[in-house]
Amino acid sequence: MKQFDRRCVLLGMGAGAATASPGLRSPLWAQAAAHKIGVGSFEVNILSDGTLLLPTSVALPGRDTGEVDALFAQAGLPAGGIIAQVNVAVVKTPDALILIDTGGGGDFMPGVGKLADALEGAGFAADAFTHVIFTHAHADHLWGVIDPFDGGTRFPNARHIMSVAEFGYWTKPGREADVPDLFKPMALGTARRLTAITERIEQRKSGDEIVPGVQLVDTAGHTPGHISVRLQSGNEQLLVGGDALSHALVSFSNPGWRWGSDMDAGQAITTRLRLLDQLASEKMILLGYHLPWPGLGRVERRDKHFRFVPV
Ligand SMILES: [Zn+2]
Repeated sequence: MKQFDRRCVLLGMGAGAATASPGLRSPLWAQAAAHKIGVGSFEVNILSDGTLLLPTSVALPGRDTGEVDALFAQAGLPAGGIIAQVNVAVVKTPDALILIDTGGGGDFMPGVGKLADALEGAGFAADAFTHVIFTHAHADHLWGVIDPFDGGTRFPNARHIMSVAEFGYWTKPGREADVPDLFKPMALGTARRLTAITERIEQRKSGDEIVPGVQLVDTAGHTPGHISVRLQSGNEQLLVGGDALSHALVSFSNPGWRWGSDMDAGQAITTRLRLLDQLASEKMILLGYHLPWPGLGRVERRDKHFRFVPV
């Protein structure tokens, strides 16, 4: 626990943090057990790949830290940094066993890379998956696909699905020269991993239905080909939203703020506003990859903005 204690201090999390708004505060540790919910006849298991700790200056570049700290203080959130969970979905339908994103693997950042153990602990054998769907190819979503022993995929029997735009973007030769410094190591690492599994990737378009009730939805902006996955069974729906809505407070109360890992800030804001409006109107449950464990909630309108309400 020593490491966590030190991080608590770094993030300014004293005893006062206990007053945080219910559900907005994210635990610092990975969750050991899967969280299970039903969506009609589908079963969705959420597993933790770990947690990421981001300095505020990286998550909200150019934003006055005093302004951010004041917003966080109002909601009872600690100042000085952002804790992002890494919530990975396993979807069991009558026809398929689908993994949506694969976590960061062992080479990305400390605190993530726990998905392989979490899957094993929950009784999901890697060779049982029929599909792996990637919302996008950032390290914390893609790099965990690689088996460190043979350099291929961990999921030998799965179809690996990524949007056409996303695959094309990251595999363009020399891509690292076009991206901001923050993304250069990721661009190289992602290209290398996509090359290693290139024959396994099936490029699909938003709107495509992968199996009955599992549909790709365009949510580009965070990355050029970012997609979400809409699950529908009977009258029930859930949107696996990837990184379209990344923070339980900022993405909902201030969706027009630039988020540091959004690669096209303007498009990401447009997508965020459209998605918030849709989720609030349709009362659809959202699963956010980086939202407080287990990342599930509804979107409510609040004056001109929105609110994340964990369920
Ligand atoms: Zn992410």
